[in-house]
Amino acid sequence: MQNRRKKARRMKLLRRIFLVGLPIVVVGSMGYFSLKQLLGASESTASSQFYNNPSYQEEASEDDDNNSIPGGKTTVDTGDLEEEITNNDNVTLDTTPESITVIVNKELRLPSDYIPSDLLVPDVEYSITYYDEKKLMRKEAGEALKKLFDGAEENGYILCGVSAYRSYDRQYQIFTNNVKTQGMEHTTKYSAIPGYSEHQTGLAIDISTKSVNYRLDASFGETPEYEWLKTNAHLYGFIIRYPDDKTAMTGYSFEPWHIRYVGKALAKYLYENNMCLEEYYKFTPSEDYSQAISYDNLEDYGINPDDVKVPTRIPTKKPTPTPSLTPTPTEEPTDTPEPTPTPTKKPAKPTKEPTQTPEPTEEVTVTPEITPTDTVTVTPTGEVVTPTEEPGTDGGTEIIP
Ligand SMILES: [Zn+2]
Repeated sequence: MQNRRKKARRMKLLRRIFLVGLPIVVVGSMGYFSLKQLLGASESTASSQFYNNPSYQEEASEDDDNNSIPGGKTTVDTGDLEEEITNNDNVTLDTTPESITVIVNKELRLPSDYIPSDLLVPDVEYSITYYDEKKLMRKEAGEALKKLFDGAEENGYILCGVSAYRSYDRQYQIFTNNVKTQGMEHTTKYSAIPGYSEHQTGLAIDISTKSVNYRLDASFGETPEYEWLKTNAHLYGFIIRYPDDKTAMTGYSFEPWHIRYVGKALAKYLYENNMCLEEYYKFTPSEDYSQAISYDNLEDYGINPDDVKVPTRIPTKKPTPTPSLTPTPTEEPTDTPEPTPTPTKKPAKPTKEPTQTPEPTEEVTVTPEITPTDTVTVTPTGEVVTPTEEPGTDGGTEIIP
């Protein structure tokens, strides 16, 4: 009897616990699960955004295939989001400054006020350790450069950045300075006219390696680093912009050190079809790119003739830099008769040329001593590049494109 009452009481208690407890458990767990679901949802959207980010995907795939094929060819995931280019039948000339595939050459210029909006210093080794404008590249190109250098390193090749972005103003300074110190003829052979340098796009960089003392000259083309670069650069979206078999088309002599970012799709297409940008865009240079600029038409190219006025020709006496403006009267008169023509790029310059020509010749002898002092801007002291090469690079050879 007592047992039965006890049992009944226990049942009652259980029922009460059940009735009160269950809702608590149900509501509680509902809260827990919905909270978890919420968290899970935000986690998954975050990760899907992350994976949709092409740069992340590339990074991931690069980690996956670190292995390289014995031939020195690196395997990189090329199956990215860019659409493959299969032909250039309907391609139109891309002269949009901010376009990744823009073409800039001796006849296609950038606006003097064009400055890329997304410049940054790529996370790679440079031949200089301090900050300099020339370390800058556009974001996308800089990130690709990092992958290129990493890819090279994985294969035992150490590449080094030397000179990338060059503003219009800096190119102007270099160009006019070179004309002053080395003459027009020599300068136009090696220096781009401001506005015509691919370096202004922020998509080009001159690179080198330690074994050639970070020089930007033919010696880099002899290194195993260059061999690797030549066959692998396109996998990272870069091209050798001025190859040795395209000089007539590009207008520049072979520059193994100058690479240009164009994106993987175009780089792959150009590499596989052995084309340079000019060929791809079916661009025909007029008159074999014969340099149209002269002392007579500087203004047509946005250059103030005063900025290339040579002081007096007393090579032995260097301490005459300040009075540079006074001793120029001889050239003044010659400039006046100029018809100040409109867009005529090729004014005949018979009489004046001869007067100027002697300069280049003299310049040869002068250069060695002048360069160190005059090319100041170009030859930052900390530069690892040997003083002899610098003029050839920033001031000469490389300056250019
Ligand atoms: Zn260059």
